[in-house]
Amino acid sequence: MPELGYFAPDEYLKPNSIEEVVNLLQRYGDKARIVAGGTALYELAKRGMIPQVKKMIDLEYLNLRYVRSDEEGIKIGCMVKIYELANSPILDIHPYYSIKEAALNIRPVQIRNMATVGGEICSAIPFLDLPTVFLALDAKLRIIGPKGERKIDMDGFYFDYFLTSLGNGEFVIEVMIPKLPDKTGSAFLKFERTAVDLPLVNVGVSLMNKNGECKNVRIALGGGRTHVRIKSLERALEGKRFNDKILDDIVQSLSDEFKPISSAHASTEYKLEIAKILLRDALLIAYKRSQGD
Ligand SMILES: Cc1cc2nc3c(=O)[nH]c(=O)nc-3n(C[C@H](O)[C@H](O)[C@H](O)COP(=O)(O)OP(=O)(O)OC[C@H]3O[C@@H](n4cnc5c(N)ncnc54)[C@H](O)[C@@H]3O)c2cc1C
Repeated sequence: MPELGYFAPDEYLKPNSIEEVVNLLQRYGDKARIVAGGTALYELAKRGMIPQVKKMIDLEYLNLRYVRSDEEGIKIGCMVKIYELANSPILDIHPYYSIKEAALNIRPVQIRNMATVGGEICSAIPFLDLPTVFLALDAKLRIIGPKGERKIDMDGFYFDYFLTSLGNGEFVIEVMIPKLPDKTGSAFLKFERTAVDLPLVNVGVSLMNKNGECKNVRIALGGGRTHVRIKSLERALEGKRFNDKILDDIVQSLSDEFKPISSAHASTEYKLEIAKILLRDALLIAYKRSQGD
């Protein structure tokens, strides 16, 4: 067994093309790790969890640091820092504003300054904030690998704690949020023990308001074994008029659909009760926003 904190990479690589990254990932397999902001890697290294890693592959030189808007939607390069997302004027409009809300509330500021969108997604730590908000906005991921490019729905990217659908030699280059219809509202809420702690649970929602009926409902949660969409609750709200009764029913049904993992900070039961409160509030906020509030 390695000593706690054992971490001794022997090479720090700075490729300047996507092809080079794919080649390096293929050549070194488990011995290589991509470095984006390095903030999650640092935590893993400190705990002796990545002793096999010998090659660090920095993505800094690939020009993947952009937030753009075009006819398809919003495109975010994997190397965008969280503070850049929090300050992007492109995200000032609804329904994309919930991305900005999530980014602004990732703390401490040192993490916002270093951590990246790709790192948030690919850490596959199931209570991080951006994956929840992206899932609730139907995000897609652009992935490059030895067989070229594939585009996948983010829903389906996560298999388990630390486990994604990325294959050998693959990495994420971009998150794409599709253009969402007018009168779509979204919201993101989370619960943390302290202002600089990782969240215990978080909730992202989006919905479209069609003459008072809810359409295209998306509900995502973080805090279980993976980030998840709660599709049974989305279906339960789809086409319904928004009122207190339906909101109460949805929130109560969460008990059957979501199992937060217990931790030193809170039990499964406690986190579930918190998640219900966050979900109710987030749905209310998203609905108000869909009315133009
Ligand atoms: C004190 C502290 C407080 C925090 N608070 C919060 C919080 O409130 N909310 C929150 O959401 N998060 C929080 N975090 C987590 C932080 O946001 C993550 O550490 C960060 O998102 C990781 O991003 P990074 O760019 O530093 O990733 P890195 O550490 O560089 O990489 C993380 C993992 O992702 C892989 N990777 C990175 N980019 C790619 C890519 N493009 N394709 C494939 N694999 C890739 C790396 O190989 C590595 O395995 C906190 C962290 C700390 C230390």
